[in-house]
Amino acid sequence: MMKTIPLAVPDLTGNEARYLQECITSTFVSSVGPFVDRFEAMVALASGARGAVAVSSGTCGLHAALVAVGVESGDLVIVPSLTFIASANAVAHCGALPWLLDVDPATWNLDPEWLRHTLERETVVGADGQVRHRASGRRVAAVMPVFTLGLPADMGAIVAVVRARGRIAVVVDGAAALGASHLGQPVAALGAELTVFSFNGNKTVTCGGGGAVVGQDPALVARVRHLTTTARLGAGYDHDQVGFNYRMTNLQAAVGCAQMERLAEFLAAKRRIRATYDQAFADLADRVAPFPDPGESVGTCWFSGFVHQGAADPVEVERLRNRLQAEGIDARPFWKPIHLQKPYRNAPQTLQPVSERLWWRVVTLPCATGLPPEDQQRVIFAARQALQA
Ligand SMILES: *Cc1c(COP(=O)(O)O)cnc(C)c1O
Repeated sequence: MMKTIPLAVPDLTGNEARYLQECITSTFVSSVGPFVDRFEAMVALASGARGAVAVSSGTCGLHAALVAVGVESGDLVIVPSLTFIASANAVAHCGALPWLLDVDPATWNLDPEWLRHTLERETVVGADGQVRHRASGRRVAAVMPVFTLGLPADMGAIVAVVRARGRIAVVVDGAAALGASHLGQPVAALGAELTVFSFNGNKTVTCGGGGAVVGQDPALVARVRHLTTTARLGAGYDHDQVGFNYRMTNLQAAVGCAQMERLAEFLAAKRRIRATYDQAFADLADRVAPFPDPGESVGTCWFSGFVHQGAADPVEVERLRNRLQAEGIDARPFWKPIHLQKPYRNAPQTLQPVSERLWWRVVTLPCATGLPPEDQQRVIFAARQALQA
């Protein structure tokens, strides 16, 4: 039996073990420690942010960011339906509801025109600038653009639409977007109040598990820090609101620092892997389409694969994935849209022609940063055979 080529596995061959040993030797294993501070500085620098707060996961980071910008129980937060469920869960953790919008077929991200159209048709704006959903009367407190596969959305247009409508905060789920840019601007400098990254095990840079919230306004970043550390005032046991225990530990940050030292190398590997697949399937354009790559954004190419244009139904795509799995290739499905998920079936939503046509056609292929070129050639050979069968 051939060994399976994994979808994504971390490369931990840098300073990870050495930094972890330093944590043990120094006894700084918990949520205070030099690696947490160093990791925050590295993430802020890499994302073009003035401040960063390291947290225990991307989901926790999204939750804390939404609370920090003022999302409250009963509010709506606009979220694209084509995302990982964590984006919607973070909204629900606030006691709020996601309002699920369809995405742009060219980017798989929020479509600024669809957002403008939806806000104009379905909301009313009060004298105080508060925007309310016409049908439910709920306040629209925030918009959460998701940078799908690490590709930045058209933030200039999205932020302009939101600001023109009223008082709505913008919190970006940039879980896989560390290292991306849009029109030359780094990912935290695109106009959102806060941007959130994940350092889960399958992301390009990992801490085992972890996340970070970054922003440009020092007061807002300080509020996130306060919220994620039990909202404690000073060294005594005074707390001024209901806070969270969402702090990253020094152990996680030790791994994260070693990973961040290799960010440029990892990004180059991810982009090389994507380009190799895209070239290898270019002559099958009638059957498969590449993942989005609009010129104005430089994404992180977190995942690679193709969109099975030729497939008649989900069963055909599943059969192709199963065939690759049987040949030792870890081909996987992609996110099922949130409006089709049991907890969110009744959430407010727009029509979803793009996400419904797209999600089941997506096949993700092995794209670990350490993927040997000969393994990628094996994947390409098997995928071409399966596509032409
Ligand atoms: C990975 C991911 C998350 C969740 O991050 P965790 O660290 O696993 O909580 C959220 N949103 C998107 C789009 C992701 O890809």
